[in-house]
Formats: sequence, C-alpha cells, structure tokens
Amino acid sequence: MRCAKGIEARQVDELAINIDPIQVGGRLTDDAMNAVIAYGDGYSVCDNCRKPNRLDHISKPPIAEFHKDVAAWLNMDAVRTVPGARRGFQAVAHTYVQKGDPVLFTSLSHYTEFLAVEGAGGIACEIPANDQNKVTSDAAAFKIEEVKQQFGRAPVLAFIDHVDYQFGNMHDVKAIAKVCHQYDIPVLYNGAYTVGILPVNGRDLGVDFVVGSGHKSMAAPAPSGILATTTERAAEVFRTTAIIGDVTQRKFGIKEPDMMGCTLMGVTLIGMMASFPQVKERVKHFERELENNRIVVDGLLAVEGTKILSEMPRKHTLTRADTIGSFDKVAESHKKRGYYFSGALEEKGVTGVIPGATKIWKFNTYGMTQKQAVYLAEVFVEIARENGLAVKE
Ligand SMILES: *Cc1c(COP(=O)(O)O)cnc(C)c1O
Repeated sequence: MRCAKGIEARQVDELAINIDPIQVGGRLTDDAMNAVIAYGDGYSVCDNCRKPNRLDHISKPPIAEFHKDVAAWLNMDAVRTVPGARRGFQAVAHTYVQKGDPVLFTSLSHYTEFLAVEGAGGIACEIPANDQNKVTSDAAAFKIEEVKQQFGRAPVLAFIDHVDYQFGNMHDVKAIAKVCHQYDIPVLYNGAYTVGILPVNGRDLGVDFVVGSGHKSMAAPAPSGILATTTERAAEVFRTTAIIGDVTQRKFGIKEPDMMGCTLMGVTLIGMMASFPQVKERVKHFERELENNRIVVDGLLAVEGTKILSEMPRKHTLTRADTIGSFDKVAESHKKRGYYFSGALEEKGVTGVIPGATKIWKFNTYGMTQKQAVYLAEVFVEIARENGLAVKE
C-alpha cells in the first residue's frame, strides 16, 4: 500500500505493539486523524483570521478558546503553541540569555535545551544527578553557589526536566524551583514527557514556564508543542514587535517576535486541538499506565540477570533496562548477534526497541491495554526461555 509513488503507507501501530520511548504519547486520536485530513492544506486555519491578526486570536475554529483552555488546564496564565518543545525552549532562551550568561541545566537535560541556549550564546552549567540518577534541590543550591563563585553572578535561567529522557525518573521540580527563585532565576519546566501524560499544575510547582511537546505527549502531529507562562513572564517572552521599516514606516501590530508572528498554522494545531479533550481525560488515569508498566517490568525482571536502571517503583512509563546479564549473553554466540532480540520481538508483534540493542535500552509502555501488557511480559519471558536463559517462577 502506498500514499504516493515511492512513499509506502506507514502501518506501525496498526500492526504491532509499539514500545518506542518517543512515539507512544504522540499517536493521534481518531479525532486528530480526521482533523488532519480536513485541515491538511497550508494556512488552513487562516480562513477566519481577522484584525488584530494573530493565530491565538482566531475564534473559528476555536483557537483562542483552546489557548485559554490549555492555560487553565496547566494552571498558568498565558499559552502559545510552538513547533515542538524545543521551539519553546528557544523562545525563552532568546528572551533571557545573552552571550556569556551561565544557564542552569541538569546532567540529564535534553540536547534541545542545550541547543536553544547555544543559539543565544549562553554557557551550560549542569546540576549533577546523584547516584540514584535523581536531581535534588540540595544539588541545585550547591551548583548555583558554584556558578556564582565562577561567574560572579547566578545563572540567568534554569531548565528542569520533570521526567528525564534517559531514565524516565521524576525529579522534584517544586523544590528545585524554590531554590532557583531564592536567587531570582526563572525556571522552565520541561514537560516533554509529562504534559498530556499526567496532571501538571504549573502554579503549584512554582515554575515560570511550562513547555510541552504535542508530538511526544499530546497525541498531536509533529512539529507541535505548547509554551505556558505567568502574566509577569508573558510580558517578556510574548512581548510584541517594535520594529519599524525605515522607508515604509511599517509596524507589525501585535505580532510577537519570539513567536515569529504566528506559529502552528494548520494541521499541527488542529490535530492538537482535536485530541485535547481526550488528552485532558487520559491524564487523570495515569495510574492505569503505571500498573501496565509494572506488569511489563515484572516480566522482564523474571528473566535472571535483568536489571531496571530507572527508579523503582516506577513513576513514569518510560523505563531503562539493563540486560547485559541476560539477553546480551545470548547475543555473544547467536548467529544474528544482538539482532536476534529485536528480531524475536518483531516476530511476536512488538516493535520500537532499537535493532541490535541487548545491553542497555529503553521502552515506554504508555497507551497499551492491560492485555497487551500481560502479553508483552510473556513475550520477554518466552524469548528468554527460547534462548536458554533462566527464568524465575
Ligand atoms: C523529546 C524531548 C524534547 C524535544 O521535544 P520536541 O517537542 O521534539 O522539541 C525535549 N526535552 C525532552 C526531555 C524530551 O524528551
């Protein structure tokens, strides 16, 4: 089946249980799928754009209302949509970071945060995670003092990932933000793995910015995401244009330079909006997702020699496994080497594990049914038995 000459139709989630860490929270709802077809044309949301001409003011389709709803949902004051979480980081970095400024990250921060700061000329200062791979407020305080010693001033901005992409561990953003605020450092909450997955309350966390990824965690097409902030910070990051053309004397009204005027002008925004009612509902049931994760983790741990490198009990469905003492042992002598593992998973209808990986790898159980979780746990045990590995009863 093809969409066009040379382009195969993609049928991954239709044909297998997908456990790819970055894909499971971004799969479209049926409503988003329909919206994508209806709003596929370029600039399709602009039919009813009226003065003062800005995306977040359009009322038909209800884009303005969506912005208000997302702000209320996150308990923040103002929201803009952005082409991916990374573009949210970029807008904030561009607003607060100047050349040579120290910026706070963690040793588990995502590369897109680094690139956003690099673009603004900032310097990366990482709060080291502890031996449990957790970032603590004590470590944050220590790092800020260290930065002050070195730079003669505190960092100008902090990027804190609530759930990191490496271990799926949950870090105490609220306590870290409190420490940062003692030094007047604005805090960006990176919710790439949380906004749209579990409840997020920006005001309660005490953060200045909440960034979410539409295509990672809000069942939306790529590239999409949200940037939410407080009224105070909105005046800074969502400031309006002041530039004037010297020949024409043109001004550009209420366009926002860090949003480049308008952001998501079609299928991405409408897709995110179409999924939003279901996304709002699904975050209330995250404990079911953790229960499914537990079933799968138990299956893996039944294979002797397997370790889970993420914190236990799990607080998120993204999980890092160490199978050096189990599945990797088979790879040493298997004729397909490490590929036997991903191959066997594929044969049993499971996709999303990096082909060839048998040492340290990640999976995400988000969005599967309990029946699928039970099946997946059995699959790991079955592959172990088929390859002569010991399984605990
Ligand atoms: C995926 C991810 C990002 C990037 O998100 P985009 O929406 O693709 O820009 C940023 N931070 C973390 C922690 C992520 O996991």
